[in-house]
Amino acid sequence: MDALADLDLRIAGCRACPRLVDWREEVARTRRAAFADQTYWGRPVPGFGPPDARLLIIGLAPAAHGGNRTGRMFTGDRSGDVLYQALYDVGLASQPTSVAADDGLELYGVRVTAPVHCAPPANKPTPGERETCRPWLVQELRLLRPTLRAVVALGAFGWQAALPALTEAGWSVPRPRPGFAHGARVGLDGAGRLELFGCFHVSQRNTFTGRLTPAMLREVLGTAARAAGLPGR
Ligand code: SF4
Repeated sequence: MDALADLDLRIAGCRACPRLVDWREEVARTRRAAFADQTYWGRPVPGFGPPDARLLIIGLAPAAHGGNRTGRMFTGDRSGDVLYQALYDVGLASQPTSVAADDGLELYGVRVTAPVHCAPPANKPTPGERETCRPWLVQELRLLRPTLRAVVALGAFGWQAALPALTEAGWSVPRPRPGFAHGARVGLDGAGRLELFGCFHVSQRNTFTGRLTPAMLREVLGTAARAAGLPGR
């Protein structure tokens, strides 16, 4: 087993945040009516994508009936529909849909992760839970370091989680820390050159209101893919 697969296994067994452990397991027990015949994952959801990824997408946390149900990042919810459609459109995914962990989806040179690996109530982890989960993100970044050339942070939460984790993993983040904005781009040195991009989160609130359109998402992902040296489209 490679080191990243081993990390993913260890993440899936984590119980460090009592509130999130209670919530993810309660949701898995009670389920949503539409999924009443399914067995929910109900555990931390590890990152998804190859161990030699050149691009890492950092979201927020798994959705209660999405990743927490299927066991794969952004899989089985509307946010994931938008994200994987865009990854497919720019040539980074084998198919435009992501509905179940065994649906055959492959990512090309890109990995998708979250700074909080457990579904939180109301999609809102606390800053303390983000801190508790950060060592997992730092370890993931360290393992990806040999190939990683670009990071896309989805939303201010992902951005604020990414900066200290990147610092701990060996990159130099400018002081004062750059603020989040859609389209922000910051070059980091240290553990190899890395380009950090900001993008509005693919939440329903953003995509339903048109704050984040598919074209805007494709633009950021395509630019990040080129910065990472991926072929993309
Ligand atoms: S959020 Fe992270 S640190 Fe907290 S229990 Fe889940 S995996 Fe562990």
